Amino acid sequence: MSFSMKLLLKNVHVVDPVASRNGRFDLLIEDGRIGQVGRDLPVEGTRVVELPASLVVTPGLIDIHVHLREPGQEHKETIATGTASAVAGGFTAVACMPNTDPINDHASVTEFIVKRATEARRARVYPIGAVSIGSKGEELTEIADLHAAGCVAITDDGRPVATALLMRRALEYATMVGIPVIDHCEDPSLKGDGVAHEGAVAGLLGLRGIPGAAESVMVERDISIAELTGGHVHIAHMSARQSLRAVRTGKERGIKVTAEVTPHHFVLTDEALQRNGGYDTNTKMNPPLRDEADRAAMVEGLRDGSIDAIATDHAPHHADEKALEYDRAPFGIVGLETAVSLCLDRLVHAGVIGLPRLVELLSPGPARTLGLPGGTIAVGAPADLTILAPDASVTVHAASFKSKSRNTPFDGWTLKGAVAATLVGGRAVFVNEDLAGRGLNDSSR
Ligand SMILES: [Zn+2]
Ligand SMILES: [Zn+2]
Repeated sequence: MSFSMKLLLKNVHVVDPVASRNGRFDLLIEDGRIGQVGRDLPVEGTRVVELPASLVVTPGLIDIHVHLREPGQEHKETIATGTASAVAGGFTAVACMPNTDPINDHASVTEFIVKRATEARRARVYPIGAVSIGSKGEELTEIADLHAAGCVAITDDGRPVATALLMRRALEYATMVGIPVIDHCEDPSLKGDGVAHEGAVAGLLGLRGIPGAAESVMVERDISIAELTGGHVHIAHMSARQSLRAVRTGKERGIKVTAEVTPHHFVLTDEALQRNGGYDTNTKMNPPLRDEADRAAMVEGLRDGSIDAIATDHAPHHADEKALEYDRAPFGIVGLETAVSLCLDRLVHAGVIGLPRLVELLSPGPARTLGLPGGTIAVGAPADLTILAPDASVTVHAASFKSKSRNTPFDGWTLKGAVAATLVGGRAVFVNEDLAGRGLNDSSR
């Protein structure tokens, strides 16, 4: 074995809630895998990297809700730019949504995504297949084929699963192959052609409203169907306090229901629609930014354990599309490169949760939710690691995103907490040398 293949991260602060580690350890990386975690490991035959003392090493962060747009919408994002954005944001793995063109409703599309991701050599990519052909809500896809090709879940994200019967069948087949159904919860008749949360702000701006109940009636329907089938339903981008109540009740009754929340839904409210003269389309997302009671409920759910994961719903759109008037602009914002800073600033530094709970929500929580590898720093496992600079102050600069798109409401925000480096399979795929120093780059060259 060559000298350079053994890398020793010496005396680094490790936060790994699954392994109950929160303290200083030596981390030996051997041939891309975790060789040893311990104290005073021998340095002979290794390349030693010392990191600034303020940095924290965590198991690789995992974002289970990302739109990579390829195939078909490469003007918004590609698998190469999306995974470059992921690792710049500290994510070693992402799960990508099937609403591409064509839709990922067939194993050939799944195989294309897997191939492109391997070529990109950045974050790991776990494709998610469609529930129905063309996500039209009519005919189920071949779920076993999708799973065999690499899909880790199914969803018609962008749309709800059209009928209760289709959701029943989807949960039955998904359960047979041991994967969850990810649920974009919205009742089309209650949502109507709404573009903003139904409330005072939408009223003031003259925008059509979407009530929280448009989400929660679907959450309640599908928790009932999860109970009926014994299947696992995962609630995507939960935003309404009524939905959280339904998830809590479902969990108490032993139903397999999990839920994720996006940073924008726990940081912003519909008040943001009034900023900058109003009608900033970077505040238009689905589900919409809701009111303070909803935002506070999401924060409480993250704190008390009723929410399983933080996911970004990274939804790149071209500037020309977002430049349309509010009613016509597409829903969604990019999230991969702002998530960690928003979480550290608004949850950890704000005193809502400690760093171990945040790591739980960004790594083992998402891994468990979709049954993915990772979530802990385990001997023998690939060395997928995120190195955080929790105390570094950063200003969001959308123009320098690795993502192809810049549609974010957080441009110009100054936040406390940043990503110093990201390692996938022991390889430094992203390094901010100002924060991490040069040791990681030198050793991977
Ligand atoms: Zn969705
Ligand atoms: Zn989505």
